[in-house]
Amino acid sequence: MREKGIASGALLEGERQFEVTLRPQRLADFAGQAKVKENLAIAIEAARQRGDAMDHVLLYGPPGLGKTTLASIIASELGVGLQQTSGPVLQKKLDLVGILSNVSEREVFFIDEIHRLQPDVEEMIYSALEDFRMDILIGTGPGARTVAMDIKKFTAIGATTRQGLISAPLRGRFGLVLRLNHYDVRELTGIVARSAELLDVVIDREGAEEVARRARGTPRIANRLLRRVRDYAQVRAAGKVDAGVAQKALDLLEVDRYGLDEIDQKIMLTVLEKYGGGPVGVNTIAASIDEQSDTIEEVYEPYLMQLGFLDRTPRGRVATPTAFDYFKVPRRAGGAQSQLF
Ligand code: ADP
Repeated sequence: MREKGIASGALLEGERQFEVTLRPQRLADFAGQAKVKENLAIAIEAARQRGDAMDHVLLYGPPGLGKTTLASIIASELGVGLQQTSGPVLQKKLDLVGILSNVSEREVFFIDEIHRLQPDVEEMIYSALEDFRMDILIGTGPGARTVAMDIKKFTAIGATTRQGLISAPLRGRFGLVLRLNHYDVRELTGIVARSAELLDVVIDREGAEEVARRARGTPRIANRLLRRVRDYAQVRAAGKVDAGVAQKALDLLEVDRYGLDEIDQKIMLTVLEKYGGGPVGVNTIAASIDEQSDTIEEVYEPYLMQLGFLDRTPRGRVATPTAFDYFKVPRRAGGAQSQLF
């Protein structure tokens, strides 16, 4: 099954509950992202020692890499509550006033998709983050006046897949700005093994590795694939997953050997076939496949580059020889490609 834009991270029906079950509760159980974890561990410990609210944190990176999970881990490590909302939900300033006036001292306030805030709400967040104060306009017309409302000292955690869409003033309000990267196969294998244990799935190391390899560097996808492999094993393999069983199940679902989804494939085929391997500008690719160029840059390209399929050069994107081989596209003699490699 080639899922369209699986990397975009849309949650399937019934999946939310499943994700909650598998979500690590402690920083120690959160696999990979060593630098992010180290930074957070220090900030958490410092806040604990001072008995103060932790600095605000902005987490960015492609969907499914653990931003929401980290927000809830931070709250539990700090031993405080978590209030959760998202950019598209916070439509009006009053919505924000409603939430923040109820926030308790040192509590964590998580805003997912923070790049999608309305401009007036975003402006109100500036003073909330900086001075723990909101200016509320009361009344209309000439009689209107502004009342400053103090709020408790809380910790905001913003999450975004689109760092490029975060304004400088908003970004500047976050003490810690941390990037999450795609996971390597070893880290994902560990995540699959842990999830399997929680789900009572019998899987050996090679089976877990096979699932991990096809998970597009993304824990959410790894867990999703594991669920499907579990069903297959239950019906066809007496409930035991090894490499062969995982391979058969995933082949049957037409999951790409590298976990590439439809948009990844479109990007690669555009560069390889339409532009002879490049160099080609990201805007041209975007126009060809009808996708936004910053989504390509921030959500899709990082994984394609990690796989070694795509390079960024000053003249544009270039497909690597590995990509030509994988997609079985013949290299053009004397083309830009052969000059570069
Ligand atoms: P995001 O908010 O970045 O889209 P989530 O935090 O919702 O991603 O993570 C998606 C799923 O992947 C969660 O259910 C969680 O169980 C799992 N997950 C993410 N990162 C990790 C990790 N580092 N270790 C273990 N599981 C993880």
